[in-house]
Amino acid sequence: MTQVHPPARLLMGPGPVDADPRVLRAMAAPLVGQFDPFMTGTMTETMALWRTVWDTTNEQTFLVDGTSRAGIEAALVSLLEPGDRVLVPVFGRFGHLLAEIGARAGAEVHTIETEWGTVFDPGQVEDAVRRVRPRVVAVVHGDTSTTMAQPLADLGRIAHEHDALLYVDATATLGGNPFPTDTWGVDAATAGLQKCLGGPSGSAPVTLSPAAVAAIGRRTQIEAGLRTAHDVPPAGAPIRSNYLDLAQIMEYWGPRRLNHHTEATSMLYAARECARLLADEGVDAAVARHARHGAAMLAGVRGLGLEVFGDPAHTMHNVVAVRIPAGVDGDAVRGTLLDDFGIEIGTSFGPLHGVVWRIGTMGYNARRDAVLTTLAALEHVLRRAGHPAPAGGGTDAALASYAEAP
Ligand SMILES: *Cc1c(COP(=O)(O)O)cnc(C)c1O
Repeated sequence: MTQVHPPARLLMGPGPVDADPRVLRAMAAPLVGQFDPFMTGTMTETMALWRTVWDTTNEQTFLVDGTSRAGIEAALVSLLEPGDRVLVPVFGRFGHLLAEIGARAGAEVHTIETEWGTVFDPGQVEDAVRRVRPRVVAVVHGDTSTTMAQPLADLGRIAHEHDALLYVDATATLGGNPFPTDTWGVDAATAGLQKCLGGPSGSAPVTLSPAAVAAIGRRTQIEAGLRTAHDVPPAGAPIRSNYLDLAQIMEYWGPRRLNHHTEATSMLYAARECARLLADEGVDAAVARHARHGAAMLAGVRGLGLEVFGDPAHTMHNVVAVRIPAGVDGDAVRGTLLDDFGIEIGTSFGPLHGVVWRIGTMGYNARRDAVLTTLAALEHVLRRAGHPAPAGGGTDAALASYAEAP
């Protein structure tokens, strides 16, 4: 066998996307011991950097080791007690995931659903909260399966007026769309690095409001004596995760540094670098960059004569769902793009499978050259597949979009 040597790729799907080379370099930095002052200092710096990305003053802002799903599961199993009611507004695939994880945590799950390609009016969520009286409202911000972003500005207020906490999965949106955690009254939010944040999957940034921390503390006290990693649950206590118990993970990241897991050092370096790069660019500037390149990609696919799926008023900045033209084999086009151009675009799930491709412009790939290269290659492959894409139609439209909003 030889050393691992991946082919050159431009990852323009709904994530993962290419990691920023500076993040990959940070990951190659040497390891130190887990309680080395450099290590604990780096953890503390990383917490501060992520407060900037989350736009929060939440003391409890840290990382869960694992992919985005580990963050989601940690939040839900730590916030919910068996029998608690949780309300999940579902507008795509990841809403179903929140409902499933809630059920596995032993909660009583209530869902409301809206058609794929649409989002909820805050009044619909408020009606459901009144009816269900949940302890937690758990919602996805941007669901990559439909490309929709649920407006969140009113949901924190709605949850709090009815004594509920608001949990948000911001994996697909953070860094590329506005996410003012404190202004929106979000109590718990989690993400992953591989979308707009410019890193690989494998670390889940988390932020918790004081109210969420208090709820986790109450829950932990109910399970008498589970305050430290060394305590054993009393006989008959509900089965709970140890690895994903945020009460224990907070003690590890906090001043007491109580041993829990061994923090994944190379992923810590990666997550620190992702946040450092965003803080350096300015989070608002990064969001504006995603808006600019997303708009150029949208103009470009329309310039190729393609139609876009979903309510245009509520699409995320960083991923567009493009209808596969009649008579064109969607998977064959994706295969040719990959084989001949080294470019990956995304397929789709559930009701959208075979109906749309999903094209992302996010993280390190929210760049003009990546947008133009993808549109030029797509034009070529579409024409070979028998779709009459106008010559230069995609790149010209993208360039016109850039000229309007440089
Ligand atoms: C991409 C995505 C995830 C991914 O979870 P992983 O565990 O990192 O694969 C989760 N939630 C949303 C909304 C996503 O778009």
